[in-house]
Amino acid sequence: MPKVKHIILLGPPGAGKGTFSSQIKKIIPDLIHVSTGDIFRKNIKESTSLGIKAKEYMDKGELVPDEITNSMIKNRLEELDKHYWILDGYPRNIGQTKYLSGIANIDLVLLLSVDTEIIKKRILGRFTCLNCDKIYNKYTLLPKKNINENKWICDDCGKDIEFQQRTDDTEKTLNKRLDVYKTNVEPIIDFYKDKKLLKEINAEDTLAYTNKEIKEILKF
Ligand code: AMP
Repeated sequence: MPKVKHIILLGPPGAGKGTFSSQIKKIIPDLIHVSTGDIFRKNIKESTSLGIKAKEYMDKGELVPDEITNSMIKNRLEELDKHYWILDGYPRNIGQTKYLSGIANIDLVLLLSVDTEIIKKRILGRFTCLNCDKIYNKYTLLPKKNINENKWICDDCGKDIEFQQRTDDTEKTLNKRLDVYKTNVEPIIDFYKDKKLLKEINAEDTLAYTNKEIKEILKF
């Protein structure tokens, strides 16, 4: 098994954190992907009180308040107990970073760097299979089988999918999310640099990384 047990993926929206998590999972199948954005979206779909509260902030591209996000992540990590996990979308500011350091040991922090123009193309073209969550892109990664202009068959699960954007993947909300990222990320980077946990990787085309390269990144 790899020495690295708890990983954080840092990077702007659209850096490909979800995609890179899937690539890492192919190498460490037991690794559990924990995405705060996915947990919020699941709660919104199920209309829980957490979901209703979170939606208010998410639709504006703002961060959900720390007291809500921190206790949600604490519960999830407690459930995961001795498992290997990878955090995607958390921590998002220095308060969450310090909170996390009090509840978990982190082995590696990967900072995914991508040019802003590439991010915009990725986010504004992004759509997901509602059945299995596989991520596609209108410009760069369409499913193989096309039914009509806006409808495809999912490559992974075989169900029909339509081009449907996340409600926060609009240009206005994206610009706000990028601002929020830029304002908050530097202190997080410094925090993990000081602890010698940070490794920066070029994420312009993570699908081009070979398993060998990913293993090197993970100090496998
Ligand atoms: P993501 O799917 O990671 O792009 O997150 C989508 C949205 O969920 C963000 O724009 C925030 O509104 C909210 N969110 C996700 N993770 C966090 C977090 N760690 N802290 C606060 N809000 C978050």
